[in-house]
Amino acid sequence: MSLRTFPESLETGHPADTLRWAADTFGAAELVVTASFEDAVLVHVAATAVPGIDVVLLDTQYLFAETKWLVAELTKRLDLNLRVVHPLDHIQPDNLWQSDVEGCCNVRKVEPLQRSLQGKAAWVTGVRRVDGPTRANTPIASFDIGRNIVKINPLAGFSDDDMVLYAQLHELPANPLTERGYPSIGCWPCTRPVAPGEDRRGGRWAGNAKTECGLHG
Ligand code: SF4
Repeated sequence: MSLRTFPESLETGHPADTLRWAADTFGAAELVVTASFEDAVLVHVAATAVPGIDVVLLDTQYLFAETKWLVAELTKRLDLNLRVVHPLDHIQPDNLWQSDVEGCCNVRKVEPLQRSLQGKAAWVTGVRRVDGPTRANTPIASFDIGRNIVKINPLAGFSDDDMVLYAQLHELPANPLTERGYPSIGCWPCTRPVAPGEDRRGGRWAGNAKTECGLHG
């Protein structure tokens, strides 16, 4: 199989099937999942389909306490093989997010992501098409030319209802912020709750033209 063409059946399969296909195709040890722990679905799908799969949390130094709680809860419950990746040593908490969100995301997300992906053949993410216009055409699998790695988005076709149903079916804990109006959860300085009917990512970098952290676009 070319690294640039993928089976059409992935589009109609279950996310767990996508993970199993990825493990069969690239090898389980060649996969890395990056999870924001906005919810529990991605890590549950990945860790149950491919036990022991490498799961990365990018610790930006600005994670919500509620997100850290969910990380601990799921690590214990799913026996996650969790790798917490931090910014480089010289990056310490500062006020950069107030003046330069691009620069802050670059040193706290983009650079640590690059290190996280090193040596891996395929990168598994939780990106979904309903996240917003910039993600509406997200494929289940593609080749990320810029990062020179296969990018797999097993939840790309999942709606918000699908996420709720999956979480209910598997009795998964939720990020406590979800019921407080945070449908999309990133760093605390750059995330606010949204009003009913508002764009689900409208609370990210509110008041700024930025819509993506640089990991996915
Ligand atoms: S989301 Fe905000 S606080 Fe987090 S890395 Fe980006 S600019 Fe910094």
